[in-house]
Amino acid sequence: MRVTVLGGCGAWPEAGRAAAGFLIEQDGFMVALDLGYATLPNLLRIIPPERLDAVLITHEHPDHCADLHPLHRAWRMRVDSLPPLRVYCPDGVLARIEGLEGGEDVAELRATLEVRPLAPGVSFALGPWRVSSRFLPHWVPNAGLRLDADEVSIAYTGDTGPSEEIIDLAAGASLFIADATWPGHAPAHIPRYDLTATEAGRYAAEAGVERLLLTHFWPGTDRSRSVAAARAHYDRDIMVADEGVTISVPPR
Ligand SMILES: [Zn+2]
Repeated sequence: MRVTVLGGCGAWPEAGRAAAGFLIEQDGFMVALDLGYATLPNLLRIIPPERLDAVLITHEHPDHCADLHPLHRAWRMRVDSLPPLRVYCPDGVLARIEGLEGGEDVAELRATLEVRPLAPGVSFALGPWRVSSRFLPHWVPNAGLRLDADEVSIAYTGDTGPSEEIIDLAAGASLFIADATWPGHAPAHIPRYDLTATEAGRYAAEAGVERLLLTHFWPGTDRSRSVAAARAHYDRDIMVADEGVTISVPPR
């Protein structure tokens, strides 16, 4: 299994970076996991759009789904007669993307994307994977996702505040991709709907994951501070979601 980071910024992309997105390859099956601002150009460095088999989107915030819009255009305009692209997402994502189109183009968008709802607690087969979801606390419905294949597994929080559900989602995962918006302390003036790197490290340790990939960094964050904060609680592999980083996970 191979994961390539398409972007690791939260909220908006810094210069030369992109917002949340990952490309997951397993047995030749290609899944995009979130497609935030500026992730599509990074995806297209690796594969043409028609090589994608499916897209999973955790929630409707544009730093997680905005580049589904240019992907839809590339899918529709670049190659004739592709079958619809499967997109699994919670309610709200499609409305955000449709807002960038108008008139008949909305109908074309709906014909291009085969949208399947991600509801809390669903479990379904997707290529070599069994995908399951747990909704985690955020400003909008956010599907924490787990992908299990033979001898390898990925858990991804999307954006989440502190929750014991995270430990169940990530239990024993080969790779845990965790919201780490701030290094040490969350701002006191907003509700707790994102994690610190300290919390990401603590959840990684409690869930017994094999590797931790920190992501969704607030722009300007010193990512080495985030690693140090997570390291205080978790002593196995800690990686940072810098664009272009590729993580190969061997089967157990
Ligand atoms: Zn969000």
